[in-house]
Amino acid sequence: MKHWSEYSDPATIRGLVAEIARISTRPARIMEVCGGQTHAILRHALDTLLPPHVQLLHGPGCPVCVTPAAYLDHAIEIAAHPTTTLTTFGDLLRVPSATSGDLFAAKARGSDIRMVTSPLQALEFAEQHPDRDVVHLAIGFETTAPANALLAYLARERQLGNVFLLVSQFLVPPILRAICADPATAPDAFLAAGHVCAVTGAAPYEPLARELNRPIAITGFEPADILLGVLEVLNLFEAGRAEMINAYPRIVHPHGNPEAQRVLGEVFALCDQDWRGLGHVPQSGLALSPAYAAFDAARRFPPAPPEPAPPLQSAESGAAAPPVCPAADVLLGKLQPNECPYFGTRCTPDIPLGAPMVSPEGACAAFYLHRR
Ligand code: SF4
Repeated sequence: MKHWSEYSDPATIRGLVAEIARISTRPARIMEVCGGQTHAILRHALDTLLPPHVQLLHGPGCPVCVTPAAYLDHAIEIAAHPTTTLTTFGDLLRVPSATSGDLFAAKARGSDIRMVTSPLQALEFAEQHPDRDVVHLAIGFETTAPANALLAYLARERQLGNVFLLVSQFLVPPILRAICADPATAPDAFLAAGHVCAVTGAAPYEPLARELNRPIAITGFEPADILLGVLEVLNLFEAGRAEMINAYPRIVHPHGNPEAQRVLGEVFALCDQDWRGLGHVPQSGLALSPAYAAFDAARRFPPAPPEPAPPLQSAESGAAAPPVCPAADVLLGKLQPNECPYFGTRCTPDIPLGAPMVSPEGACAAFYLHRR
């Protein structure tokens, strides 16, 4: 197939669905770890085309959804500095922080918060406004890490002293290990995100499949891509083979993007990382390396000590407990978004309780959009 429309061709889709039904003989739970794939599955109702014993689970693949609430509190605090300009991708603007509302509300209060479509716009703004400290919210998986790394790389090369990154970068393989460490949440197989593997290459996923003792298919984003990924992991699963297969070879090469990896290796270093709802996962993130410490917004603007917790309401006070978003259960595939008690009532895209309902890549937003 060479053209986009061929990846949605009904005859191709019917062929893949029939082949999946033919080879699949036992229950299988398959998790995709990519918000783009989650939305494609829901938008095209691909899960409804599968045999009932094949279940698709939507894992922690939405970068905004896993960004810790405390990170957003820190970003809002930094934006309140009168000489600071904060730059961010738009999908972070309405994500609730732990205690300070969201970035939109902070902007309404007067903070200089600007939406960008590339980290290099932050660089351009910093060059034009040397009197401003420009802080870019550098979040995401391996997909966005190279562009964020390039911002720091070019800022250093151009000797800009007013560019900073508030970093919360996540890595996919460590979270797959964490998911598989718990038999209650471990799926039978994974679809790995094609754009992540376009950076890292397919090769690291070969030993990972063996380590996790589960098949992994590197998968694209069109309907035929996703069904092909499902077919490939089911073939391996049925044969009892814990192997990786690259079902997206038109984009993903064995060794990925060497230039992106070079910049990543220079700018970032491995670190422990907090994931919203999932907790602390060792060596699952990227932080600025010592050579780039001068660009670290967390060093330039250390977070204020946390406020003391408010006193607990007693049962006699009559105050109803505020609803708590069970995002962790959704992100681990334990709960489908439309099984959440707040889905579509207390929590909608207009009044989101949790990040998965805000982000265009969030599973709850996908269900709200396509499956109400
Ligand atoms: S529907 Fe809302 S409250 Fe429920 S898990 Fe999703 S984001 Fe959280």
